[in-house]
Amino acid sequence: MRKKLLLGNWKMNKTISETKEFAKSIDTLVELAKEKDIDIGVAPVYLSLQTLKELVPETFIVSAQNCHFKDSGAYTGEISIPMLKEIGIDWCIIGHSERRTYDNETSEKCNLKIVKLLENNFVPVYCVGETLEQFENNKTMDVVKDQIEKGFLNISKEDASKIVVAYEPVWSIGTGKNASKEIAENVCAFIRSLLVDLYDKETAEKVRILYGGSVKPNNIKEYMKMDDIDGALVGGASLSVESYKELIQNI
Ligand code: PEP
Repeated sequence: MRKKLLLGNWKMNKTISETKEFAKSIDTLVELAKEKDIDIGVAPVYLSLQTLKELVPETFIVSAQNCHFKDSGAYTGEISIPMLKEIGIDWCIIGHSERRTYDNETSEKCNLKIVKLLENNFVPVYCVGETLEQFENNKTMDVVKDQIEKGFLNISKEDASKIVVAYEPVWSIGTGKNASKEIAENVCAFIRSLLVDLYDKETAEKVRILYGGSVKPNNIKEYMKMDDIDGALVGGASLSVESYKELIQNI
């Protein structure tokens, strides 16, 4: 039985002081999550990671939004995995569509990062998903297959089961146009079938697959009922304590 996971992606939002303000309510959120038997956490900006990590209980996941695959070197503006590890971080989002769009993040590059993260005992949250044009041209499955195959290259069966996959159709992120539960389930089930082909059924059954894209307190429940959706990656609705609380309550 896969434990449900709710991960907030704060993107480039919240200063350190705003993050501290949110952290004041985390004990309540953690208590609620415990009652519901789900994992919860957020991915703040790099600057707030250490502060947040120091303020929250061990069970609350604090994730980075990105990392570099090299340990150190001439990569201006980048942050490495050992740097994250030193401050106690062991989760990292990889290949978010905003990074794929604005920062030329390819699936090949994501794979280098995923391999390195796993070597360092991190949980990678690997994002995949098609653009509106690809969706309208019935290319969703081709695009997702390519992203999954490239992202999981050279990853052992044992390591593969530790990866969290987030299916996030690009046309639904931050647009208020969430994919229907049927579309989301169909693609998440397809991702699991790809993992069966790449590894085996046992491994595929262990991987948590999230849906992301305009998930709100009023629609989260319908996704959570689906067989292959194990949680949600949430942007906008994870920013306020009230709405985060409602997300947990409605799972
Ligand atoms: C995201 O940032 O991954 C996301 C799904 O954003 P939103 O929930 O705001 O659509």
